Amino acid sequence: MAAQLGNLFILAAPSGAGKSSLIKALLEKHQSADHYPMQVSVSHTTRAPRPGEEDGVHYHFVSRDQFEKLIEQGVFFEWAEVFGNYYGTSRVTIEQTLHLGIDVFLDIDWQGARQVKKLLPDAQGIFILPPSTQVLKERLNKRGQDSEEVIAARMLEAVSEMSHYAEFDFVLVNDDFATALADLEAIVRGQRQRTVKQKMRYPDLLRDLLGDQSTDAA
Ligand code: GDP
Ligand code: ADP
Ligand code: 5GP
Repeated sequence: MAAQLGNLFILAAPSGAGKSSLIKALLEKHQSADHYPMQVSVSHTTRAPRPGEEDGVHYHFVSRDQFEKLIEQGVFFEWAEVFGNYYGTSRVTIEQTLHLGIDVFLDIDWQGARQVKKLLPDAQGIFILPPSTQVLKERLNKRGQDSEEVIAARMLEAVSEMSHYAEFDFVLVNDDFATALADLEAIVRGQRQRTVKQKMRYPDLLRDLLGDQSTDAA
């Protein structure tokens, strides 16, 4: 897939490190104040909804049978099995949204991140680390949405997820939330000013300033 005007950001982290909170806070802060639109991609999953999770908002909740049919139909840009459930990102939504110049955030695991980077090398991977193992455990408990068994399984998986941090373009340590959010914001803002994106965003300005030479500029 060729690079589009919108930026694709892949966020990965061990469960509980703060991906969802950071994405949510970033979108809330910029939804009205910023002229750069952004969206979080809503994945499909076979996991049961947590209390308060809404179908179509947090995830598209589907059965294993339905998910396997969607795989066969080629619906997914990437998919993976995480903690015994299928998770996947829809291809059409991503392509259409990026084409419209909207930045898209994927909250996915390292297996999905690897697939996305292969299909779209222009995508930027951001790995979120907790400030310590103890804090990670406290955050999973504090969220209060998973059973003790699920939390124990996720802690066990945390090290294997974190072992992939070096495959990502950026690493954020989510200790103080406001600092981590500001760092995430800086990454996003920086990506938008890349020459490849500005050429797509400002063709008229470049033609006006440079005339025929606008397309020659390397
Ligand atoms: P989920 O995405 O539905 O799992 O929800 P989150 O876990 O992202 O967020 C749960 C709640 O915690 C929300 O009301 C957040 O605003 C809040 N929250 C997120 N990060 C912090 C933080 O660093 N400090 C505090 N005090 N609250 C936070
Ligand atoms: P993930 O999406 O990576 O599984 P969440 O965003 O759900 O993680 O965060 C897990 C828990 O930790 C939530 O209760 C959230 O409010 C809390 N949390 C996230 N970041 C911080 C932070 N910097 N300081 C304190 N608590 C945090
Ligand atoms: P949770 O059950 O806490 O919402 O998510 C569990 C894990 O699945 C997290 O690591 C999350 O990033 C990952 N995940 C969520 N959606 C997708 C997806 O569409 N694709 C992939 N590959 N992983 C996902």
